[in-house]
Amino acid sequence: MHNPTIQNLFWFRRDLRLIDNVALTNALKSGTTICCFIWDNAILDKLGKDNPRVIFIEKSLEQIKRQLNLLGSDLMILTGQSVAQITQLVKLYNIQNVFANEDYEPFAIARDENVKQELAKQNVNFHLFKDQVIFAKREILNQQNKPYIVYTPYKNAWLKSLTPKHYQSSETTKFFANLASLRPQENYYQPSKNGFQSQITIEAGENAAQDRLLEFKDKIDSYLTTRDYPDLNSTSFLGVDLRFGTISIRQLVQFALAQSSNGSETWLNELIWREFFSQILYNFPYVINSPFRPEYQTLQYINDLELFDKWCTGKTGYPIVDAGMRQLNQTGFMHNRVRMICASFLCKDLLIDWRWGEAYFAKKLLDYDLASNNGNWQWCSSTGCDAQPYFRIFNPYLQSSKFDSTGNYIRKYVPELAHLDNKLIHNPPTDDLLNALDYPQPIVNHQEQTKLAKIMFANLKRIDQ
Ligand code: FAD
Repeated sequence: MHNPTIQNLFWFRRDLRLIDNVALTNALKSGTTICCFIWDNAILDKLGKDNPRVIFIEKSLEQIKRQLNLLGSDLMILTGQSVAQITQLVKLYNIQNVFANEDYEPFAIARDENVKQELAKQNVNFHLFKDQVIFAKREILNQQNKPYIVYTPYKNAWLKSLTPKHYQSSETTKFFANLASLRPQENYYQPSKNGFQSQITIEAGENAAQDRLLEFKDKIDSYLTTRDYPDLNSTSFLGVDLRFGTISIRQLVQFALAQSSNGSETWLNELIWREFFSQILYNFPYVINSPFRPEYQTLQYINDLELFDKWCTGKTGYPIVDAGMRQLNQTGFMHNRVRMICASFLCKDLLIDWRWGEAYFAKKLLDYDLASNNGNWQWCSSTGCDAQPYFRIFNPYLQSSKFDSTGNYIRKYVPELAHLDNKLIHNPPTDDLLNALDYPQPIVNHQEQTKLAKIMFANLKRIDQ
């Protein structure tokens, strides 16, 4: 169907919502707009068929499609190479402007540059907007005009720079009249009908994200005191929504500022951590493959495949680690405190390269985000900027008894140990272990391994000097 009045194409990427969407507002404001999403083969082909994020995206897109259909328009869902699909659509509908929101990952930056050049050949403009974060790229710099590499001064500068303009909502719905009239496309690519299968335990789409935010409203004031306890479900669970843009960061900042409590202040700080790591990835893209601190490039990890497999499957004999890994495998989510414990255990107890753990989390996490995952893994492994010093090593037993004192989190994911009392469950004695069904002995000795980890780092320092 050819519609001669269409001027603009809006391309959904990590912004799967119709409300408060900066590039979509700008497209609609400037003329009649059609909307598209592309399942890019370059991304899809690399993912396992059980990748939970693919299903989250598919369901979120279905919601957008239904909403656009109700408005007399449609979401065109395509598959193939992004550049080829965009240029084809542009020709088909005689588009003059393509609109999208910025993405700061190196792969996305290269792709967008390619798209921009191809569109320029057809005299079509490619407009990119900031939407995913409050401050992007090099907007927050230190006095030497360099990116911050330490979180606290970054946070202070971030807060100092913040004005209401930065978190003002974009009024997308006001311009819906400029959505192009389209008949719903009937045959389009659906991963779930093409071999992708995953049970996601969280509802997808922007309506569900709004429900999660509403639910969190009752919890935010106590966030400071409850957020570290994995059995309390006291965090927002909005990570996946921030990852795929089913909620706007501006709405979340407005929400946090409106609560004005210790809890909301702490929660806002977490949103700032997200931006801190986003600008680290943007300004230091080498962190994707290498430690932020180059002196740690030659750390001699042991990298034992069998131990790695036990960590992945939650069979280390360390109940809190096993509970975390099983939560991840079963639900696509792991509580932040437990992510830190599991990551530290992999690097400092099993002496396995943080990149192996990072890659495993990338496969399994629903909220997987390259910048945050990489930044946090480098923090836990002591190789990153502003990281945990290498000699401060989490004791999984102490962490467990402090943050899961009732043992309820462990009981939920390690039912073999459910019969143990609140004390024994963190470090079950051997005779109880023998009684327990199929639960392994600890695969390494924490005290001994942490000595080795310290030697691994200290030796490196000596070699460097
Ligand atoms: P809340 O506690 O409600 O926090 C609100 C939001 O703030 C989060 O959704 C997230 O966007 C942001 N946030 C919170 N903590 C952090 C943090 N430490 N760093 C960056 N942003 C943060 N977060 C991801 O979004 N994607 C990842 O791939 C990821 N990988 C991680 C890997 C490791 C080893 C560790 C230790 C942490 C990782 N995190 C990651 C950070 C954090 O664990 C999750 O953001 C958080 O658990 C998500 O749950 P929530 O939405 O309920 O968070």
